[in-house]
Amino acid sequence: MPELPEVETVARQLAPFVVGREVRSLSILDPRLRAERTPRVAGRTIEQVYRSGKRVLLEFSAPPRGGRPLALAVHLRMTGRLLWETDGTKSAHDHLRARFRLDGGELLFADTRRFGTFHWYASAADALPDGMEPLSPKLTTLKLGQLIGDSRQNIKTWLLRQDRLVGLGNIYASEILHRAAISPFRPAGSLAKDELKRLHASTRHTLRRAIENCGTTFSDFQDAQGVEGSYQQFLAVYDRDGETCRRCGDSIRRVVQQQRSTYHCPGCQV
Ligand SMILES: [Zn+2]
Repeated sequence: MPELPEVETVARQLAPFVVGREVRSLSILDPRLRAERTPRVAGRTIEQVYRSGKRVLLEFSAPPRGGRPLALAVHLRMTGRLLWETDGTKSAHDHLRARFRLDGGELLFADTRRFGTFHWYASAADALPDGMEPLSPKLTTLKLGQLIGDSRQNIKTWLLRQDRLVGLGNIYASEILHRAAISPFRPAGSLAKDELKRLHASTRHTLRRAIENCGTTFSDFQDAQGVEGSYQQFLAVYDRDGETCRRCGDSIRRVVQQQRSTYHCPGCQV
């Protein structure tokens, strides 16, 4: 499942191709993407494309004859991909779910497992997630401490809560805690001030570095051009069960917390 850095990569790479283009038509090929009524997008221009939480947000202009702007939030889930094409080759994709015909090319949504979703909003402000963006300047160490409060949830599970911080999943929650040298079993509310400081710094460093490397690729994730991310070479604990911790030499372990995999080093995460 793509997390914040992977979705950020998709949005950043797609934006230069589609922003400023007018939509000629939209064909929704998968009825599951019609769970919500599909508004009329033909004649509107794509004004912005960016990541919000774990979703790619597309902002459309008001229709040419007047009216309100529109926003679409695309959740890629497991295997959703947004593809840009100009030569007709990708339209033959077996798992094509939606097609935007744009002025000068096509924006395609392909999704093998069909868990991806489309949600339409009257404005981008309506599409904002409940949780905070971990890379926002508003998320200070103090604010992080306030969000955690006296939560008794273990810190790994807490980091996955999208109503608190958006965009984190198993990979980056595990990596962030290892870098901060904090055990995933610690009750979130038990973290001391210096530990919160380390958690805050580690969250930013880890996500920024992952974005610089276009995210982590195991099998399904590819960006708009089918290019794979390269952050997997920097992973310190994720998917390294039984391997040696580069910081302390102990053996990395995989445990299951709330039905989700956590990778950690029992030697240096306390
Ligand atoms: Zn270690």
